[in-house]
Amino acid sequence: MRLVLLGAPGAGKGTQAATLSKHFGVPHIATGDLFRANQQEGTELGLLAKSYMERGLLVPDEVTVRMLLERISRSDCARGYVLDGFPRTVSQAEALAKQGQSIDRAVYVNASTEELMRRLGGRWICRQCQTPYHEVASPPKVAGRCDRCGGELYQRADDQPESIRKRLEVYFSETAPVIDYYRAQDKLVEVNGEQSIEEVGKEMIAAVA
Ligand code: ADP
Ligand code: ADP
Ligand code: ZN
Repeated sequence: MRLVLLGAPGAGKGTQAATLSKHFGVPHIATGDLFRANQQEGTELGLLAKSYMERGLLVPDEVTVRMLLERISRSDCARGYVLDGFPRTVSQAEALAKQGQSIDRAVYVNASTEELMRRLGGRWICRQCQTPYHEVASPPKVAGRCDRCGGELYQRADDQPESIRKRLEVYFSETAPVIDYYRAQDKLVEVNGEQSIEEVGKEMIAAVA
């Protein structure tokens, strides 16, 4: 099962990718998480990515595609994957197809700009396992600690109003066309992202199965 999750920053891709990954027994691959891991390790790729990410811009396709293709060439992806945050441009989608990685379904999670702003403004992420929380909609059981692994929660530097606005702009101009790319191939399913986390998850699994 090769799945792609599409949607604006804050739509709930990371949250739902965890559910889909568990349901289908395939790994959750998030390019944002891969870049952040590289930053923590201080790699050259991490440094390069940081200069784009802190401005709310996309990391160049060439670098991103190379990193993603390397990741999905590993043995744990032999039976498929859930991609979260990739492809973010039509050129990235074409690179995936050219590699023979024909995806089964692209799931578009739709939410209004107002709701996206609310979600990103209150998002907290686990430093260890990257699980997203929300201070109102999905708080952790113990304040500041991850339910899953006990890791410390933090707010991303790019989840500030100015950076959020830039990311949404970039999303509408560069990533929204990817929705049409998969629609034209009859692979797109759309899910209403403005329901409870559980309801979105159920609708998604029903739409993909
Ligand atoms: P969000 O969860 O808010 O959608 P991500 O964690 O997916 O954000 O991505 C954070 C940042 O990492 C993006 O703003 C961008 O700079 C970079 N990034 C992630 N995925 C890609 C990609 N496929 N292409 C280019 N840049 C990316
Ligand atoms: P993305 O990966 O698309 O950027 P996330 O999964 O990180 O989005 O979710 C963004 C924020 O919104 C997080 O704080 C998350 O806890 C919260 N969130 C996710 N899904 C929902 C939902 N259905 N209702 C309310 N809040 C949600
Ligand atoms: Zn954790």
